[in-house]
Amino acid sequence: MFFLNGQEGNTKKTWATNEWPLTTVDAIAEVVRPLLPYSSTLVDKIYTVLAAMPLDMRPGKAFAKAFYQHNQIKLSAEIKAQIGQLLSSFVDENLTLRLTLGCRGSSWEYYHEDSCWWGDFERSRDVLEHNGGGAIRAYNEDDELVGRVWFLPYEDHILLFNSYGKGALEHIYAWGVLVEQAFGWKSKKVSAYFSCDNSDLYVNSHTMVVVGPEMYEGEGPIYPNIDVDAPYYYSSPPVYCSGCNERVREEYAYYHRHVYGIGEGYFCEPCHEDIVDVTAGHYAGYEAFYNDVFELEYGDFATCLVEEVEYNDLGNAYLPKDGVEVGGRIYSPISLPLEQE
Ligand SMILES: [Zn+2]
Repeated sequence: MFFLNGQEGNTKKTWATNEWPLTTVDAIAEVVRPLLPYSSTLVDKIYTVLAAMPLDMRPGKAFAKAFYQHNQIKLSAEIKAQIGQLLSSFVDENLTLRLTLGCRGSSWEYYHEDSCWWGDFERSRDVLEHNGGGAIRAYNEDDELVGRVWFLPYEDHILLFNSYGKGALEHIYAWGVLVEQAFGWKSKKVSAYFSCDNSDLYVNSHTMVVVGPEMYEGEGPIYPNIDVDAPYYYSSPPVYCSGCNERVREEYAYYHRHVYGIGEGYFCEPCHEDIVDVTAGHYAGYEAFYNDVFELEYGDFATCLVEEVEYNDLGNAYLPKDGVEVGGRIYSPISLPLEQE
């Protein structure tokens, strides 16, 4: 392969990690305000344009290009220069990019602390590692982690996806430019659809970047084949809820030993909350879904067998032996508090 575990490279100065200060954005808003219809969200719109600036152009030109894409308005040379000055006064750092195989470690070691790859979609890490993938991480001049993108090999290239980071590092296209600078690769945006679904490999967006020593020549969307028969390096085998058949992470599943009509099994939380103790009748000692039992007294869930119960005039069930006679009629114990009122 053309990449190595631990491979490192430096980027040129770029505004990729900039989180633009509001003062700069306000100043830009003043410059472009006369060109646009009145908008109370102008500052937000400027942030959107800043985030969309191509990274391989000078700031004024890059802003003008992104501004045109969003507003279909061409900026004059004078305005371009004004904005270029405002943006250039903001100094950014060189970044170091490091490529590592696999995804050993915690979510914060991969920049995105709340990543679902360490939560409900932890299987993604097994599948990434098994298919020869890994991470490219960006560090600033203080060696502080400022962003991460996952990668998977594809033919003679690698595909970058699920980007997170400061400023433009949130955007996948920024990573294309950065790996060009750091590793001398060529990058191209593609639409990619992996052969597996999100339960095996959670993908945020099908817009990805394909990179390699040579420019990827293909046109149109690509459909990389992913081997999902991966060992459980990081996740545990899934269990399926015996009530609703939902896939549940084992650590969040509830085990029940004998549920009426089902037997033993794991249950998801909503199903688990619907399971009650059977306290009377033939199935006393079992558990059962609330729908399968007859409530004989408040909170006392009893038999599962319809032939074991009688119904009184109020529609409440009772076991014949527990029926209470009131005024010549038999009532369920559950009916009595109502009678007494
Ligand atoms: Zn369930």
